[in-house]
Amino acid sequence: MNDYFYQQTKAYFKEKQSDYLEKLKEPCTQGFFLNTLKAKKEDILDLIDFPCKKSSYDNNSYYHDHSNIGKTIVNDLGLIYPQEVAASLPASYPDLAEVKLIVDLCAAPGGKSIDILNRAKEESLLIANDISHERALVISQNFERLGISNAIITSKDTDRLSEQLEGQADLVILDAPCSGEGMIRKYPEIMDMLTESYTKELAELQKKLLDAAYRTLKPGGQLLYSTCTYSFLEDEEQVKNYLERYPTMKLIPIKQESYSDYPGTVKLCPLNETEGQFFALFQKDSDAETSYSRLHNLKPVKQKTVDTFIQENLDIREYYLYLYNGHYYMSQIPLYDLDNGILRYGIYLGDMTKDRFEPSHHLYRSNLLKGCYRHVYDLNEEEMRSYLEGRELKTELPDHYYQITYKDYSLGYGKCAKGIMKNKYPKGLRRML
Ligand code: SAM
Repeated sequence: MNDYFYQQTKAYFKEKQSDYLEKLKEPCTQGFFLNTLKAKKEDILDLIDFPCKKSSYDNNSYYHDHSNIGKTIVNDLGLIYPQEVAASLPASYPDLAEVKLIVDLCAAPGGKSIDILNRAKEESLLIANDISHERALVISQNFERLGISNAIITSKDTDRLSEQLEGQADLVILDAPCSGEGMIRKYPEIMDMLTESYTKELAELQKKLLDAAYRTLKPGGQLLYSTCTYSFLEDEEQVKNYLERYPTMKLIPIKQESYSDYPGTVKLCPLNETEGQFFALFQKDSDAETSYSRLHNLKPVKQKTVDTFIQENLDIREYYLYLYNGHYYMSQIPLYDLDNGILRYGIYLGDMTKDRFEPSHHLYRSNLLKGCYRHVYDLNEEEMRSYLEGRELKTELPDHYYQITYKDYSLGYGKCAKGIMKNKYPKGLRRML
């Protein structure tokens, strides 16, 4: 074992150190939470056909032993999100009653964002950012699968983003890049990377990100800070220094079984039947002196072919149509113009190719448009399997684009012409069942 880590665990877990080290020999736990934005909890549980056990940390999170949960029908339908159970706990603490603008500074692959949106008001807007463009693309895929559409996905430097959103956010989520000690059972190679200088480097980055979080918050706004490590420098020390640096930030103490040395913060580890999660909730004073950025709304566009497509296919009256980087987006609330580095503005509607409009998969997966699709084709089990495999379907339906559903949950879309439903399920998602 890495000697630095061994010494650290003595400081973290004290008389429980040997119990902790024993726990490292057990396999890691696996979890998921239910996407209640898409369906009622009981209805999702009815569709789950593999063993799972409710976690005691959160009403919607479960343990499972499935060897490939990404290849289950409930996952295809976006009814669950795989994530270890302790990672679902932080989202249950912020007070979301008045929260309108949520900013997730380090959002990829999207678990914390989705978890918060599951609990927030439908009309709230989330800005999900990740500095890695590649990882931000995974947020897009996950949001698409889970049907999330009240979001802007960005890939920007957090200094630039906090400058654009200065003094605006009701809630900032900072699930920071960290040394990942809580992931050691899943990725044992992490242990080899642990050194004091590596941890210090990460603590510096977290400090910079915490500064950006402060700048982004409006007075009275909340900050949820989390890591999946046990390191004092990245956890307890970070909290202590933050409160010293920003006297207008207060810690909102959380009552929860915890291995943290800082009262009111939470640290969970394999001794709690989880992997690893540290978190702390802060609030900016409502009279904190704050500068405000001038946010402008993105300018909507009119495009006859696209507008006609919307009218013919969706039963909605008011919407904002946006054009960004050659792609059409739609939102039912006005969205901010965040300049460059945007991967998605609300619902990715589709693209014009020559004089024809081709809709996107995201358009047909949106939770916000549930009940608004004019043409819907609900599949039986055999057809659902064929659809996921990418096959065409024979039907007697009139020619249209159709939202394709299974048990009334959206899978995607198809284009029917002369009795053949052309399969529009994205090629990258198709699989043999
Ligand atoms: N919150 C995510 C979730 O629940 O799925 C997990 C976030 S992960 C712990 C940390 C993320 O921070 C990584 O995706 C990484 O690319 C991103 N990151 C690292 N440095 C960053 C920076 N300077 N600004 C923004 N994101 C950063």
